[in-house]
Amino acid sequence: MSVLVTGGAGYIGSHCCVTFLEAGHDVVVLDNLSNSSAESLTRVAELTGRSVHFEQCDIRDRAHVETILRKHSCESVVHFAGLKAVGESVEDPLRYYENNVGGTVQLLSAMQACNVKTIIFSSSATVYGEPQSLPLREDHPTAPLNPYGESKLMVEQILKDLKTSDPEWRIAILRYFNPTGAHASGLIGEDPRGVPNNLMPFISQVASGRREVLSIFGDDYPTEDGTGVRDYIHVVDLVEGHLKAHEALIKPSEQLQANTSECLTVNLGTGTGYSVQEMVRAFERASNRAVATQIAPRRAGDSAEVYASTQKASDVLDWTAGRGLQDMCHDTWNWVCKNPKGYDDSAE
Ligand code: NAD
Ligand code: UDP
Repeated sequence: MSVLVTGGAGYIGSHCCVTFLEAGHDVVVLDNLSNSSAESLTRVAELTGRSVHFEQCDIRDRAHVETILRKHSCESVVHFAGLKAVGESVEDPLRYYENNVGGTVQLLSAMQACNVKTIIFSSSATVYGEPQSLPLREDHPTAPLNPYGESKLMVEQILKDLKTSDPEWRIAILRYFNPTGAHASGLIGEDPRGVPNNLMPFISQVASGRREVLSIFGDDYPTEDGTGVRDYIHVVDLVEGHLKAHEALIKPSEQLQANTSECLTVNLGTGTGYSVQEMVRAFERASNRAVATQIAPRRAGDSAEVYASTQKASDVLDWTAGRGLQDMCHDTWNWVCKNPKGYDDSAE
């Protein structure tokens, strides 16, 4: 049985391919390579000893997606394809809605036409907006603070409406907290283009000497050391959560079957928050390098503290994240040392 992984050449998607291949699934990757390199898939094949069928395609091209679903007899979809830069989404919201929302509608229409009705969707903790209570439970109100978050919430709504219209759909909505780390082999990892927006890639580029100094966005938050607190989760734990969700959709337990009228909406986090300062110190220990920092103003739209309730993931998926902060830092550093310029040797 083939699983179609949209966005499978990207950071999380490539790790997902490894986990699904190792679990015995056939994997077909659909990606337009707008934010990734096909080299990641060569590495996935090297790691697993199994081939990945790659189709260069845009999810907005419904006819092409249909052809791919039929050609490979796909039975389920793990949907990572999308744009993810918050700042960019504020500057160019139409591009985000067109790609993330419009693209997903085309993908779902193609799936419906091919009678493929099982999908796992990459949502984000950003749908919650400013936390009113912590840890964030799945029933916390949603109130995204930017077009990127809105695009995720819109897709969640579309999926819920689809499930209501046709209960044959099996849908998991996974809300990620802060994915980080890399495969322990150092063969695949996060390869951001340009200046990284996220904390961990930025820290690692300072440690490796590619950038001079990390700006810490605010040291006057009501947290232990004044810097922002987030729930960082190792990317391999995250994709293992997808495998569990996939199993739950394909072979629902009695508990899930009792609730088949709804999408399965679950947080994927560790439940533990770390501050920016703690992340810097942990990375310094793992890399044995100094990370220069400077205090900068708060970044617009940032919350003081965000971390997940992991109860539902544990109850419904029988999944908890096992890797700790040292693994996240160590594996990131291993990836960066082995691939100082990411996948592209010729990159600046
Ligand atoms: P990524 O950019 O590395 O991967 C996304 C992939 O999708 C890329 O390979 C890109 O080329 C592809 N893509 C984008 N638009 C496409 C389109 N229209 N058609 C086909 N392919 C397309 O990002 P990632 O970090 O691996 O994130 C994967 C998913 O998880 C995204 O949907 C993202 O919004 C979501 N997510 C990521 C994070 C995070 O911090 N990384 C957090 C929460 C949610
Ligand atoms: N952050 C920072 N400097 C950076 C990037 C991020 O201080 O260069 C902080 C940010 O303010 C937040 C945390 O690191 O408190 C995580 O930010 P990231 O962008 O990685 O994730 P998100 O904001 O989406 O949770």
